[in-house]
Amino acid sequence: MIPVQNRIPVREIQGVGEAAADDLKQMDIVTLDDLLGYFPYRYDNYEPRDLAGVKDETHVTVIGKVQSVPVLTFYAKKRSRLSVRLLTGRYLIKVIAFNRPYLKRRLKPGDTLTVSGKWERHRAVLTASECHIGVPKRDEVIAPVYPVKGNLTVKRMRKIVRQAIRQFPNAIEEILPKPVLTGYRLMGRGEAVRQIHFPTEREKLHQARRRLVYEELFLYELKMQVYKQKERQSVLGKKMIIDRQRLNAFIRALDFSLTKAQKLVIDEILGDMSADYAMNRLLQGDVGSGKTVVAAIALFAAVTAGCQGALMAPTEILAAQHAESLKKMFAPFSINVSLLTGSIRGKRRNQLLEELKEGDIQILVGTHALIQDEVIFRRLGLVVTDEQHRFGVVQRRRLRSKAEDPNVLYMTATPIPRTLALSIYGDMDVSTIDELPGGRKPIRTYWVRHEMMGRVIHFMQEELKRGRQAYVICPLIEESEQLDVQNAINVHARLTEALSGSSVGLMHGRLTPDEKEAVMADFKNNRMDVLVSTTVVEVGVNVPNATLMVIYDADRFGLAQLHQLRGRVGRGTAQSYCVLIADARSDVAREKMKLMTEISDGFKLSAYDLKLRGPGDFFGKKQSGLPAFKLADMVHDYRTLAAARKDAVRLAGSSRFWKDAAYLPLRSKLEESGVFEHRRLD
Ligand code: ADP
Ligand code: MG
Repeated sequence: MIPVQNRIPVREIQGVGEAAADDLKQMDIVTLDDLLGYFPYRYDNYEPRDLAGVKDETHVTVIGKVQSVPVLTFYAKKRSRLSVRLLTGRYLIKVIAFNRPYLKRRLKPGDTLTVSGKWERHRAVLTASECHIGVPKRDEVIAPVYPVKGNLTVKRMRKIVRQAIRQFPNAIEEILPKPVLTGYRLMGRGEAVRQIHFPTEREKLHQARRRLVYEELFLYELKMQVYKQKERQSVLGKKMIIDRQRLNAFIRALDFSLTKAQKLVIDEILGDMSADYAMNRLLQGDVGSGKTVVAAIALFAAVTAGCQGALMAPTEILAAQHAESLKKMFAPFSINVSLLTGSIRGKRRNQLLEELKEGDIQILVGTHALIQDEVIFRRLGLVVTDEQHRFGVVQRRRLRSKAEDPNVLYMTATPIPRTLALSIYGDMDVSTIDELPGGRKPIRTYWVRHEMMGRVIHFMQEELKRGRQAYVICPLIEESEQLDVQNAINVHARLTEALSGSSVGLMHGRLTPDEKEAVMADFKNNRMDVLVSTTVVEVGVNVPNATLMVIYDADRFGLAQLHQLRGRVGRGTAQSYCVLIADARSDVAREKMKLMTEISDGFKLSAYDLKLRGPGDFFGKKQSGLPAFKLADMVHDYRTLAAARKDAVRLAGSSRFWKDAAYLPLRSKLEESGVFEHRRLD
């Protein structure tokens, strides 16, 4: 089905020998198609300019008329220097070209010469890096620069690509549907590929990029749609029969009523669970929006259907907290909730695993200890992962393979705009809790400089006098855990001295799990007034009596992380505060601090964060699962992304796409990417 043209090996391009082919192979270029899809990462600009506006010592291209007979001098073996006078605009300049002796014979007074090189204004000398007799061809003015390997040079690469386009003019087939092309006025595929390599003018390059970005995003979205359809087809016949009456009794027994948004997402989740496909859903909600109770309801529902449930958290602290609150909620309904973490070992661990296999444990809560091979469930029906952005893609998939297609719910408190979420987690459905439970007071956020620490401590004392508690988060030193810990120890010592009479605790990554748990328990039960900590408390910790969050060197954190940290307070009804201590020397840092003081909505902040730092940073390195695009950028090209998504959803849903010959090239392109062989993502 794949058109033969695309499989043409690069060796068939004139001038590409074995050596070049080997080098190309190192760059993952094997076929003509690979070559044409290897886009330049930037362009050299040889647009001729008038020297009047050109700064000293800059690179420039000029066109002029030769005014003198070139003078050639040899100064070493095979080393030469050629100099010639050139009139360009109102400037009479000297052009110097090294090691191009052949120009001596070819250049005559009166010839037109195009020269690129470094312009030295005071000497009126242009030292040539490129010389071209005559005027440049239109498509040589903006020249592509490729990343190259082996013995290949950029110049050679240009030649190869140019030859490929010349030799196989019809190799590039249109794949986008006509209505899309005309609707968005997109450049045809063949022309776009030619222009991206050898632009004839800037505007054309812009149009080529626009077309190829759309194509990239559209193909990606279409692929996701196909995945989703396949995945749903592959797991047919697995629905849960949820006991709604028992579930409603549980919901009525909660000590608050659910928000409208919570009810809505619960409907979506239960809908998936009772349907005949496996749920693959992302639940986004701002910090404090009440995701835990949603997870609890889903887990309870699974139990009423005779299944086991698992809840996975990124840290032991959080796992312990979840286990505790689930135990409390589920106690009146005699559901067995157990905690499994890395620090539970020996006999207790074996017993736990045995009970799990037997099905005596209905809900298992844990860290990624849950996804080890020895953990065997009897009938796992639902897996919930909290703060899913902390888990790597591999870990998520491994969890999923724990049972035959369990329902999976990923929860995240790093909410992002909906279309972006739908696209990034392309094969997932997305539910969003977009309101906070009533009665919450917005957290007052202040930004101060280090010199104001005395006042911050005073303010802290005031809160402590009212019986409140405070967190103090220490600077983040990503490069060194040791420095991280040392920092926390120092801050702890200083505060212990400054706040004599109060109990100041310390938490960091070097403590053993038992020590951590003990510290957390002290803070939770109000036996400790201030908790000094590295970022280990970042996610999910719930201590409603804590009303003050102080963050040292706040500008070192990302917006999403600051928002998470801030979310540790404001969990009760009392007014809460967040103090950001930062000298913030850069513009980005200042902007970050300002946004934090002005915006309390996590969705809005994440949108800014994406703009400030880009998606790679936002989701963490590598583990993000972010698709890699050649040209497109999901944040920068957000509007195109949204359009492409809409178009892809519509097309994948129409039966014409699967039958109509008009879509054959597009289907082949998808086939090339292996999407049709795919059964499921993991
Ligand atoms: P997050 O979404 O950040 O995980 P939590 O699930 O920890 O938030 O909920 C934060 C707090 O709000 C908890 O103390 C929880 O009991 C409470 N809560 C959750 N839902 C509601 C609600 N509908 N009404 C009142 N309080 C709620
Ligand atoms: Mg939470």
